[in-house]
Amino acid sequence: MKAATKIHSLIIITILFSLTTVQSVLAQAGQKNEPFTFTKVDLELLKQCELLDQRLEKEGLVYTDEALNVYLDQIGKTVLPPGLSPENIKWRFRVLRDPEFNAFALPNGSIYLNSGLLSLMENESQLAGVIGHEVAHALNRHGYKHNRSTRKKIFTINLLSVAGGAGGAAGAVASAVISSVATVSQALLVVSIFGYSRELEKEADLFATKRLFESDSDPKEMINLFNLLHRDYDVENIGYFYIDHPSLEERIAYVNQLIQSNPSKTISPEYLSVSRTRYLSKTEELARHTVQLAIGNRKFRTALAISQRLVDFNPDSSENLLCLAEAYRSLGPRTIEPTGEEFSSKGRKQALDRKAKMTFAEEEAALMSTPIGKTAWKTNQVNAEEQYRKALELDKNNANAYRGLGMLYERLEKNQQAVELYRKYLELRPGALDRTLIQRRVEALEKMSGSSANDPGK
Ligand SMILES: [Zn+2]
Repeated sequence: MKAATKIHSLIIITILFSLTTVQSVLAQAGQKNEPFTFTKVDLELLKQCELLDQRLEKEGLVYTDEALNVYLDQIGKTVLPPGLSPENIKWRFRVLRDPEFNAFALPNGSIYLNSGLLSLMENESQLAGVIGHEVAHALNRHGYKHNRSTRKKIFTINLLSVAGGAGGAAGAVASAVISSVATVSQALLVVSIFGYSRELEKEADLFATKRLFESDSDPKEMINLFNLLHRDYDVENIGYFYIDHPSLEERIAYVNQLIQSNPSKTISPEYLSVSRTRYLSKTEELARHTVQLAIGNRKFRTALAISQRLVDFNPDSSENLLCLAEAYRSLGPRTIEPTGEEFSSKGRKQALDRKAKMTFAEEEAALMSTPIGKTAWKTNQVNAEEQYRKALELDKNNANAYRGLGMLYERLEKNQQAVELYRKYLELRPGALDRTLIQRRVEALEKMSGSSANDPGK
C-alpha cells in the first residue's frame, strides 16, 4: 500500500509537466460557438464515458440516495439552459463517495459531485454554481476538444499501470475514483481530475455566474464557492493538479466584474435562509458519511471541518456530535489548524515522505514524540471526550458513541472504563460487523487489568 501510494504521486507529477504544454495548445484552440460535428474519435470518447459511468457504479463509488438524487436533479434543472437538447448529451447528476473537493462533467452529460464538496458547500446557490460550471464544460464540448488536440501526443506513460498500483488500497476511496477513471480512459482522467486550461475554466465560471443571474440563485455565492474550493485543510491538496487553472484571485476578479456589469438583482433574505436550510438538511446524512470517508483517507482536518459544519447546522443531533467526536479522536497528535511549518515546502515534503514510507501507526508514533504532538493529542482527546458525552446525553442508545469513547479510553489506558463501554456497544448492537473484533479487545483488556473474573453480562 505504501509503495503504491508513492508510485501514484510520482506518476501524477510527471503527467503534469505534459499537461502544461497541452493546455497552452488548447487555449489557442478554445473557440466556443462553432457547430460541433461528431467524428469517430469523439464517438469513441463517448463510449468511454458510458463505460466509466458503469464502472463507477459497479465499484460502489456512486452514493445512492434517491431523495438526494431527485434534489440534485431539481437544482440541476434550474441551471440548464432552457430549450436546448444537444446531441449525445443526457444530463445526469450523481454523487461520488470521495472526500476530495471536486466535481466533474463527462462529455456525455454525466455530472459527478464528490461527497466532499457537497458536504462543504453551504447553500443551493453554491450547488447551482458548481453544476453550472460543469454543465458548461459538457455543453461547450470541452472534453472532446481536449481529447482531439491531445490524444496522440501526450500520455507516454501507461496510466493503466498507475491504476493497478494506486488502486486496491484498503479504504482509499479517493484514489479508487482516480484509478477507476484511469483504467477506463486516459483522456477522461484530464476531464475529471485535472481540469482544463485557464480559458476554458474561465468560460465555465462565467457561464455558471450568468445562469445564477437568470435563475433564483445568488450570483455572489460564486465567490464563496471559489473560496471553499481552494481550501486546503490537510495541507496535501491536489492543488498542484490545477497548475494552469485560474488562480483564486483571478476567478474572484472576473466573476466580480461580471456581477457588477449586470443590473442589480434583489434576492430576499427569506429565500436565502430557506434555501440554505433546505440544502443543509438534504446533505446532512451524506456529510456524516463523508466524515467517515475523510477519516479513512487520513484527511482528519477535512473530517473535522465537515463535522463542525454539521454540528453548527444541527447541534441537537447525537449523530452529528458523534462525527465531531470521531474527528477529534482521529486527529490524534495533529494540531487542529496546520502549523506554519506544515505549510512550508520542507513541511509538505516531510508529510509526503511520512505518508509514503510509514504505516499509520508509525506516523502517529513519530508525531507523538514531539512536544507539539503531545499537546495536540491532549487537546483533541479532551474535545473528543466532551463531544462523545454530549452525543450520549442526546441519545443514550447511540451505540457507536460507546464504541468510540471506548477506543479513546483504551488509548488513554483507562482499561476498565473502555471494557464497560465496549460491552454497552455490543449489548446495543448484537449483530455488529466488528463484534468479534470488539470482543477480542474486551478480552485482551481484561487480561491486562487482571479483571477477567468480571461479570461478562454487565
Ligand atoms: Zn472546470
